[in-house]
Amino acid sequence: MALDSSRTHLWRPYTQMRVAAPPLEAVATHGSRVVLADGRELVDGIASWWTAVHGYNHPHIAGAVADQLARMPHVMFGGLTHAPAERLAARLAALLPGDLDHVFLSDSGSVAVEVALKMAAQMWLNRGVSGRTKVLSFRGGYHGDTMGAMSVCDPEEGMHRRFGAYLPTQLFCDLPRTRVQTEALDAALAAHRETLAAVIIEPLVQGAGGMRTHPPEVLATVARLARAHGLPLIADEIFTGFGRTGTLFACGQAGIVPDILCLSKALTGGTMALAATIARTEVFEAFWSDDPAAALMHGPTFMANPLACAAANASLDLFETEPRLDQARAIEARLRDGLSPLRQVPGVAEVRVLGAIGAVQFARPPELALLKARLLDRGVWVRPFGDIVYLTPALTIPGADLDRLIDAVAAVVTEQA
Ligand code: PLP
Repeated sequence: MALDSSRTHLWRPYTQMRVAAPPLEAVATHGSRVVLADGRELVDGIASWWTAVHGYNHPHIAGAVADQLARMPHVMFGGLTHAPAERLAARLAALLPGDLDHVFLSDSGSVAVEVALKMAAQMWLNRGVSGRTKVLSFRGGYHGDTMGAMSVCDPEEGMHRRFGAYLPTQLFCDLPRTRVQTEALDAALAAHRETLAAVIIEPLVQGAGGMRTHPPEVLATVARLARAHGLPLIADEIFTGFGRTGTLFACGQAGIVPDILCLSKALTGGTMALAATIARTEVFEAFWSDDPAAALMHGPTFMANPLACAAANASLDLFETEPRLDQARAIEARLRDGLSPLRQVPGVAEVRVLGAIGAVQFARPPELALLKARLLDRGVWVRPFGDIVYLTPALTIPGADLDRLIDAVAAVVTEQA
């Protein structure tokens, strides 16, 4: 019997349940594989929405979570603290560049973005500056599904355009890829500098907006212009953080230090819900005062969950003890070799590879249901969306599994383009 109660109980994400194929029942995971109830074993090409960088069920993370579960699965974070959170905050501060030292822990990427937006807005209020109510974001961007995060997603193509009337009005620019776009960004920042609280960007790659990459120089230009206009820069590294682009954090490739940085997804190696919003000292100091009203008024019930912090600490151990960044760069080379020839296929608009991210963009949107079915037939779990099919595998994926993914993508693209 199919295990799917979409019609009666379980409401599914991003899915028109009436027409969508029923979900597949997963019963186990291991390495870079997902095992289905019918016995099939799929090679996971997207590492569970880009999270499982160490592959599934890494024993070091599983052991750390089990130990923590026996000791203290959860405790509220208001008025209490605990070693897993203290240790994690200190380790993140040490790993991040500059004085990105002040770590606020929450429980999802969207909430990490909400916290970043609130930090920026309240930083100005605490400094006695009012009227800075808008954020400058980039077309093609995606920052999450909650109301504030939705407001900084691409206003036209984004998944949230239907909610426009409910969302705060923000300012959108093109990424400064050309001189004209750089001048336009500079002009927009100058024209709106009294009403802007911050600039937000996904460094090096706009993920859910279509796996659109940009060179480090573009990120450096954004950082330079934000600074020139006195605005804090929020780097949303929820997708890019922890090796996905070939370096631990994408900002490193442009040599920039944002004022606020958001992490989630791979923070726990994809095992537990956890996110972090990390601020530079200058931002933090705007909240350091005798005035209770100047405190950051945010505190999710499950923030700094000890199990999740234990998982994150274990994940950071693995970045120290296992060659994750080398693995990411090796994946990059294989993706380049395997996917680049698809540029010659008529109907393929572009192939993009950055770190352990490979995307093939069709000239016209493909028949997604058919594409997904063909990929499944080939034993791989890959979820094309819009006009792209992409791979973001575990950084530990064995060579044979990666070859299977690349071969499957190459075959279905050639069939469908
Ligand atoms: N920001 C970026 C760049 C993301 O890619 C995502 C999720 O895909 C989010 C924010 C939202 O994270 P979450 O789904 O954990 O709320």
